[in-house]
Order: sequence, then structure tokens, then C-alpha cells
Amino acid sequence: MLDKYNLHYYYKIVKKEGEYTYSKPQIQYPLVHLKYMITPVKKKRKINLMSTPSLKLADLRFDNSFVTQLPADPIKENYCRQVSGACYSLTNSTPCSKPALLIHSDEVGKLLELSPSVFRTEEFAQIFSGNETLPGMQPHATCYGGHQFGNWAGQLGDGRAITLGETVTSQKNRYSLQLKGSGMTPYSRTADGRAVLRSSVREFLCSEAMHHLGVPTTRALSLVLTGDEVMRDMFYDGNAMYEPGAVVCRVAPSFTRFGHFQLLAAQEEHALLKKFLDYTITTDFPDLELSHPKKAGLTAEDYGLWFKEVCDRTATMISEWMRVGFVHGVMNTDNMSILGLTIDYGPYGWLENYDPNWTPNTTDAGGKRYRYGQQSQVALWNLVQLANALYPLINDLKPLEDGLASYQKTYERQWHSALAGKLGLKSFVSSTDVSLTDDLFQLLSEVETDMTIFFRKLSEFNSTSDWLTTSALHCPLGSAFYVESQIDDSYNQKLSSWLTRYKTRLESDGLAPLVRKEIMNKANPKYVIRNYLAQLAIDDAAAGNFSTIQKLLDVLKNPYNEQPEQEEYAARRPEWARHRAGCSMLSCSS
Ligand code: AMP
Ligand code: MG
Repeated sequence: MLDKYNLHYYYKIVKKEGEYTYSKPQIQYPLVHLKYMITPVKKKRKINLMSTPSLKLADLRFDNSFVTQLPADPIKENYCRQVSGACYSLTNSTPCSKPALLIHSDEVGKLLELSPSVFRTEEFAQIFSGNETLPGMQPHATCYGGHQFGNWAGQLGDGRAITLGETVTSQKNRYSLQLKGSGMTPYSRTADGRAVLRSSVREFLCSEAMHHLGVPTTRALSLVLTGDEVMRDMFYDGNAMYEPGAVVCRVAPSFTRFGHFQLLAAQEEHALLKKFLDYTITTDFPDLELSHPKKAGLTAEDYGLWFKEVCDRTATMISEWMRVGFVHGVMNTDNMSILGLTIDYGPYGWLENYDPNWTPNTTDAGGKRYRYGQQSQVALWNLVQLANALYPLINDLKPLEDGLASYQKTYERQWHSALAGKLGLKSFVSSTDVSLTDDLFQLLSEVETDMTIFFRKLSEFNSTSDWLTTSALHCPLGSAFYVESQIDDSYNQKLSSWLTRYKTRLESDGLAPLVRKEIMNKANPKYVIRNYLAQLAIDDAAAGNFSTIQKLLDVLKNPYNEQPEQEEYAARRPEWARHRAGCSMLSCSS
């Protein structure tokens, strides 16, 4: 039997009769936390490795299942309103004056099978700013609600996102293309439907960086400057200013959120809720093994199976955030993807000094609901809200409770697997490793310790005196500490005694140091999009220099590799960035 998460097996890509396909499953050695040694593959599928895809924009084929299978808001005019009995409103983007492509992702272009030459055309910027559409596109904004900071907020919807259409590739992969910032929709409420350059750069870079880190995420095809200015009060202090406007084209199999189901349940549109759920299961979860696939119509049992799948995917996503030190910052239920993808990059941040209480979002500074250390509980809370929305269709608590229990189990298993990878252990042994890791995290928060550098350097651990008896500042971990004066005798002793326990634990595994190092370096990225690095790229872009964004994107494409020329991107946060806006905390203004 294949392990459900494919952690113990991997596939090689082999050429057979002139075509590329996957090999038989290969067993990896050692059989431990192989997530970090392999690319997980869900199903064997024939693949075609096109080295240079060749589609022109006009060759993209759209099937727009969301629009064709779900009911539309009958009103065509673009004004803000409450919408009922519908899942979306057909909406065109508001034209912008001078669209210019600033950056794009080659890899996402390849996913869509687009020829690299399309990015050089004038047409590209026109389409992906929202000024023009391709034949087959049906621009629309979808209708959803959500809990914001724990309170039901009613209808929210795509206030500044317009989905252009869903394209299906020759490999039968479905991708929804969505513009963010291309103007007002019926769901814009009191806002302008636009996005500024700084937040667009952050979304573009972070979603691509997350993908390369192996974290489930929506992707970004392009970032286009609109040529127009947008008024924003960045600090919410009454000093509004004009900033350059931009549009990111996001790409994902679907942008459906927990809030889509919640709004239909709140409106008591149970027939439409069922239709939407059936649509989602059949379109977005084609690999889900249903109870009676041949039977006409989905059953309550299928809904339970599907809910469990959503719970498990969410658990995987959150454990991955925790592994790399990502803090989403606005985990409202409208920002939770049904596919378990990281979605809506707003005031997110990366842990620099390890602090489980840190939230990057200034709006969250009071309650710290969305702090790093609480993300797994918040996701569970959000899943409970989704379960509440589904209850009228299932009328039975058991499958929903089973899904929630599965979330907790899956999260624990994935997080333990991530921890085993981070420490280079063969597998996570609860009897010893719960206290070993708890004590380590306690140590990391005791003095300001850079999480990314600490774990990366720990892979070089050996039991020589450099590590066990000298001051922490002089061992290879030294570069992870922010404040030298905090490293006193008492701290040195605690670290040394933890390292001694770690040494004993490693000895009981008996992995060769090089194997351990390789495992650790696949679980502990060297390069993450540190808050200040994103801000430097934004500063340069605002001054008209876009090369820093490209450079950062290139470095972040290989986060687990040593890149000797790029050491500066792996450095600790400089002191000047400690309290600078954009480098420490961010507001929701974007
Ligand atoms: P967020 O929490 O930023 O994902 O957004 C919450 C809600 O506000 C969503 O419905 C967004 O579409 C909407 N929203 C955020 N910013 C804008 C904007 N500038 N214009 C219109 N709607 C917006
Ligand atoms: Mg949102």
C-alpha cells in the first residue's frame, strides 16, 4: 500500500516508448520524513515534459466551469450591492492608463503552456492589467462571506479580484486566472478595487517563494504596473498619499474559500449550497475517492469524506507554514482556501527571531489572534466554522467531528515529521522528542535567535568542543543571535546541555553526519523572503529600479541550496530594519 502522503515512496521520471512517464514507486532510504527528500506525487499520471511550451495567448482554451455550472447574479451593472441566490457577478475590469509588465514567473507560464515570447508582447500587459480580454474569458467576481478576527462579517466577496476564466491545459490541469487590483466589483463595498505596488510585489514574490519552499500556495503569473496612482493611508494615521497602482495575476486550480460555503449557509440557500458543494467536489477534487462513485449524486457520506480531505490539506498547509516560519497575519475564514493553499498575501511576515507570539499585522497587535504559535488552533477554529456551514447538508455531527479530529491527527503527524526533518532525526519518537523540541523552542525564544539561521547551521553540528564547550557566540550557531549581551553563562550552559542531549539522540539514530545534513537542509531553508528583503525590493521598485525584485525572485527559487554568491540574502535582519515600517509589522492597507 502506498503511504497516503507518499512520504515513503517516490517516483522517477523515465522515458518509455518515446514518452515521459513515472517509474514504479521507488523506496527511499532511510524511511523517515522523506517529505524533505522527495517531491510528493499523488497519482501516477502520464506526463509530457514540454521543454519549451508554445501557446500564444490566443491559444489558451477556457472552460470557465464556475461560470457555466453555477448561477450568476442577474444584475449586470457594476455597483456595490448585496447579492443572493448567486455565486458570482459578471464584472469587467476598470481600464488603466498605461499598463507595463514589471515581472513574471517563467514557471507559471510553463504551467499554462505559454510560450516565453508572450511575456514580451504589448498584448500581455493589456490583458493582465484587465484592459483587454481574450476570446473565451468571462471576467467575474465571486460572492463569499467570512469571519474576520472571530466575528461574522456577512457578505465580503471579491472586492478587488476579478477571475478572467479557467483554462484547462493539454495535461488536463485546470487553472483559474485571477487579477487582483483591476478595479471595483459589486463586492468592493467602500473600497476602490485597486492594489498598490508594494503589496503587489509582496504577493508576487511571496507566493512564488512559498511554492519553491514546497508550501501549498496560489501562484503568481505576472505583476503589471497600471500607470495610475492609488490613494492609501498606509499607517491609518490620516496621512493618505498617492502610490503606484499594480495588478497581480494569481493562478490556482480554484480560488474557492471557506467563506463561499459560509455565506450560502448564512443566507439559508441550502439548495444552492448543495449545488456549490457538489460542483466543488467534482471539479476541484477529481482525485477524491467517493463512497459510491457510480451512484448518481453525492451523498452525505461523500460530504464527510470531502470535509476530512479539506481538514487534512489544511493541516498540511499549516504545518508547512510552521516549518518555514511563515505567519499569514489575516487568517479570516474568507482567506482560507478550500484546496488547502496559502491564499491572500496581505500583512504576512516571516519569523526572524523565533517568537511564537509574533504577529506581523498591526490590526492584530492587540489580540494577536493570528500570531505564529496560534496558527494551527486558528485553522481548526476556521474549519469548525466551515463544518457549521456544511451541517445543514449532512445533518449528522459525526462525519464533521471525524474530519476535525483528523485535522488534529494530521497536523500532529505532519508537524512531528517536519520537526524530525528540522533536527535530522530518522523519525519523531514522542517519548524523547516532544521534550527535546519543546526545550529547544524554549531556548530559541529565551534570547533573540534567528530561526532560519539557527536550524540551517544546526545541520553542521558535530560533537567537537567548538559546539559543546565554547560560548554560543563562537560556535557555528553564533550568527543566529541578534543581541550579543543576551548570551551569558547561564544561556551558554543551557544551550550546551541541550546540544549534549541532541548528540545522544543523534547517536541513537546512527545516521551518517552527511546524510543527516542533507535531510536537514531539505527541511530548513537557507533563503526565505525576510521582511526587510521584500521591503528593499519595494523601495528600489518605487524608485524605478525593478532589478532587485527579479534578483530576489531568482534567489528564492532555490531556497534549500547553498548559493555562495548570495550570502547577503541569508543574513540576519539588520538593526535598521528592527522597527522600520514594512520590515517589522504591516498594516492591512494595500
Ligand atoms: P482581505 O482580508 O484583505 O483579504 O480583504 C477582505 C475583504 O475586503 C475582501 O472582500 C476583499 O475583496 C476586500 N478588499 C480589500 N481591499 C480592497 C480594495 N482595495 N478594494 C475593494 N475591496 C477590497
Ligand atoms: Mg482576502
